[in-house]
Amino acid sequence: MPSQRRILITGGSRGIGAACVRRFCEAGDKVVFLYRSRVSEASKIQEETGATGIRCDLSLIDDILPAVGRALEILGGCDILVNNAGISSIKQIQEMTDPEIDRILGVNLAAPVRIAREVSKIMIGQKSGSIINLGSVWGEYGASCETVYSASKAGLRGFTAALAKELGPSGIRVNCVEPGVIDTDMNSSLGADAVSELTGNTPLGRMGKAEEVAEAVFFLASDAASFITGAFLPVSGGFPG
Ligand code: NDP
Repeated sequence: MPSQRRILITGGSRGIGAACVRRFCEAGDKVVFLYRSRVSEASKIQEETGATGIRCDLSLIDDILPAVGRALEILGGCDILVNNAGISSIKQIQEMTDPEIDRILGVNLAAPVRIAREVSKIMIGQKSGSIINLGSVWGEYGASCETVYSASKAGLRGFTAALAKELGPSGIRVNCVEPGVIDTDMNSSLGADAVSELTGNTPLGRMGKAEEVAEAVFFLASDAASFITGAFLPVSGGFPG
């Protein structure tokens, strides 16, 4: 890989994605990130890191290809893709509307598949690259009242395993980082009781930090992980304990 790697990160305006943008920029890499609507957060990250943010709603098919095309143009290629953007909705399955189901599956599963398809065309040409998908422990264990979210993350597991086999012969590694309970906006609606139940089921006894997940992403993207592909790395404090 080149010394200044070219990185595309989805959902880079907040939480784990923003921590990834900071981590790769600190290492001197060239980073473009996608985000949906939080313009002020995105501008702050851009000013702080020098990364470029592109606004794009990953639930809209017609938004994806133009945004990815622009990102690849700015980067001049792509060495590392981090499929991080994700959304959740805590409801019983009977309460989930069709648009909500489509939106969760679209952002969490279909968009990473489409983006990986585009980026892999370039990576195959260069015979190198690394793709990291952000799954979730719920993709393996399933969460009551997060059925569609759990299904989307289980889908990412299958996609990761299959794509690692398909792209391995072209020198491209594909891995999945599976966070447990991380202290980001995604969990800001949880009440104190829910948080203490979740941390109670976490052997390390606390929520994780976005930076701790970014460190795992950074490792899997690096040459230190050169023989790791098709792997699922929990960053979960041991959850569920
Ligand atoms: P946050 O809610 O903090 O941030 C989500 C990011 O995704 C934002 O940058 C947001 O952009 C972007 N995004 C959301 N929807 C869209 C969309 N339609 N189009 C484009 N961008 C979008 O999430 P986290 O940092 O907590 O989560 C990151 C990933 O980690 C997700 O895939 C999540 O499922 C996974 N994960 C998180 C866990 C946790 O406990 N936090 C646990 C397990 C997995 P904008 O700011 O513009 O809205």
